[in-house]
Amino acid sequence: MKWALIGASTIAAQHMIGAFRAQDGGEVVRVVSGSADRAAAYAGEHGIPGSGSDLAEALADPEVDAVYISSTNEKHHAQALAAIGAGKHVLCEKPLAMSVGDAVEMVRAAEDAGLVFATNHHLRCSGSHRAVRTLIEDGRIGRVLSARIHHAVHLPANLQGWRINAAEAGGGVIPDITVHDADVARFLLGEDPETVAAQMGASGMGQGVEDSAMSVWTMPSGAMVMAHESFTHPFAGSGLEVHGTEGSVFARGVMTQRPVGEIELVTKAGREPVPFPDHGLYGQGVRQFVDAVAGKGTPAATGWDGVKSLAVALAVRDSARTGARVTVDYGG
Ligand code: NDP
Repeated sequence: MKWALIGASTIAAQHMIGAFRAQDGGEVVRVVSGSADRAAAYAGEHGIPGSGSDLAEALADPEVDAVYISSTNEKHHAQALAAIGAGKHVLCEKPLAMSVGDAVEMVRAAEDAGLVFATNHHLRCSGSHRAVRTLIEDGRIGRVLSARIHHAVHLPANLQGWRINAAEAGGGVIPDITVHDADVARFLLGEDPETVAAQMGASGMGQGVEDSAMSVWTMPSGAMVMAHESFTHPFAGSGLEVHGTEGSVFARGVMTQRPVGEIELVTKAGREPVPFPDHGLYGQGVRQFVDAVAGKGTPAATGWDGVKSLAVALAVRDSARTGARVTVDYGG
């Protein structure tokens, strides 16, 4: 599959270009940036043959099968609609858009055009999260009572730009990390949060946007989910716990971009470590995307998964702003 990158981004450089090229016949043929000079420099650095600042020109290239959108968040909507209009399959970064309505429009446009549209929620691609989901599905912890998601990290210095000071670009920890946690809860528990009650604040990095959030979500089954996201916690570590009537799962160090961490299952029989595959998270997502384009299965996270994770995240921000419990509005 031949890809065009829309956005000369860090995530593309660090994870996605390699994942695209690792597929059979995978090539990155173009990069589009807001600046032609930056696009050319990025293309040179990463061995990409085509570069420029003209999105329409890149999308008119018949060689391009699919685009990967990893620009800042406010640009995703227009760029995705343009790519779909040009007949390209779309792998879009989270959050899909700045509003649920815009995200729904993107996903519907791809459906109407018969194109694959996926959201780059990498965590559900990890062996660790899939192993936790299998334990739950197999009934190893009985009826799920609650989950706790610990995702308070320290934003690396090279990413302390628009994320911490540009609300208009979609900055803030809620669009950045709460969306991932919403997807994790939906993936693991197989149901969609109904209501959220949240608090947010700035604890050292956020300038006009929140850098920390804590929230509690109710699920249709009656289970509750507690989520904590931050940019400012150097030593907190990450993890998730799922507690049921027959057991608890503790997954430590698994809210990450790499296939690391450890999982322990605790039941009345005692404690047991749970092994899991260590494939690359982003590679798995790209593999499933390429398969979906070939008519085999669906992407790891569909467009609708991206709509729903955004809906939960925006409900968290709304609740934190108003102090009220908010019913999640899934839009479409
Ligand atoms: P970056 O800040 O690295 O890139 C975003 C945009 O900022 C780029 O498209 C580029 O614009 C501009 N930019 C980046 N570096 C420079 C620079 N040195 N000088 C000038 N402009 C620059 O963001 P990320 O890669 O961290 O995030 C991009 C998207 O990917 C976001 O939507 C984010 O939410 C998502 N993301 C998803 C992850 C996941 O695991 N799914 C992980 C990390 C990010 P231009 O293209 O116009 O040059």
